[in-house]
Amino acid sequence: MKSPRLTLAGLLSLLLAALLAANWAADEYKSGIDWPEPAIVDPGDSVRAPSDAVVLFDGKSLDAFEGGENWIIENDYAIVNKNGITSKQAFGDCQLHLEFATPAEVSGEGQGRGNSGVYFMGKYELQILDSFENKTYHDGQCASFYKQRPPMVNASRGPGKWQSYDVIFEAPRFSRDGKLLKPAYATVLHNGVLVHNHFALLGGTFFDRAPAYEQHADKLPLSIQDHGNPIKFRNIWVRENIQSPADHPSQAVPMADVPNPTPLAEIQVSSDPCGCSVSCDVSCTTHRIGGALLRFRRPTGAMYSQPCPR
Ligand code: MG
Repeated sequence: MKSPRLTLAGLLSLLLAALLAANWAADEYKSGIDWPEPAIVDPGDSVRAPSDAVVLFDGKSLDAFEGGENWIIENDYAIVNKNGITSKQAFGDCQLHLEFATPAEVSGEGQGRGNSGVYFMGKYELQILDSFENKTYHDGQCASFYKQRPPMVNASRGPGKWQSYDVIFEAPRFSRDGKLLKPAYATVLHNGVLVHNHFALLGGTFFDRAPAYEQHADKLPLSIQDHGNPIKFRNIWVRENIQSPADHPSQAVPMADVPNPTPLAEIQVSSDPCGCSVSCDVSCTTHRIGGALLRFRRPTGAMYSQPCPR
């Protein structure tokens, strides 16, 4: 004879099975968006860049930079010497990885100790400094955007230790007449620790004046600063073709929801008058609709629209 406890367990099992069956029977939600299949990327490892990255320095040559001939290459790293270096290739929106080490032998203090920096587009400096037990102004310490924003935390390793930056950088957008349509944004991991989360830069970083934007091209070279200190660098690579949140197709509005979509002009992505540089699946045809929406077509033929990021 069954005990009451077993009977209760049996009832619960039956109830659970019924609930699961009901759930399985429900209609599955599907977005209806015809997503392209994500490309396959070999992520690499601690010494090898992802397969779709532009390798700027792999430990052997600084040929990807102007000015690299003066730097000293030893083992698998390069040492700042005589001048800064500037990438021959220009970049806009990008993911950057680099590793650096401030001198093991401590010399100087404040801004004079282990100073260098990475200039996105040659204009926006992510500071490099020996900030391990070295006080300076906070918006000038390591991992600050110079004189704009200190890092959330000081994740610095000690002198001579290898450190890393991983940065998602979104270039600013300007209209043709020079108006800022969208600021630059940066998300930064310093030694794997988040120190900037989609920070909206205030403009170019300067020593002697307040940050300000000045119209520039969609892509510009990346540079590394010579501040007179022998900083070591290794494993420098950049990935392009990242999508900004504003451009992401998840922001898309079905065309059916756009009232009276009257294209003003058919234009190519590269000459977008909104300065939006829509980074969908390329080969798109875009339309500016009422000056406020962009419509684009995927190679599959699917049509989408999205707000112009003004
Ligand atoms: Mg610097």
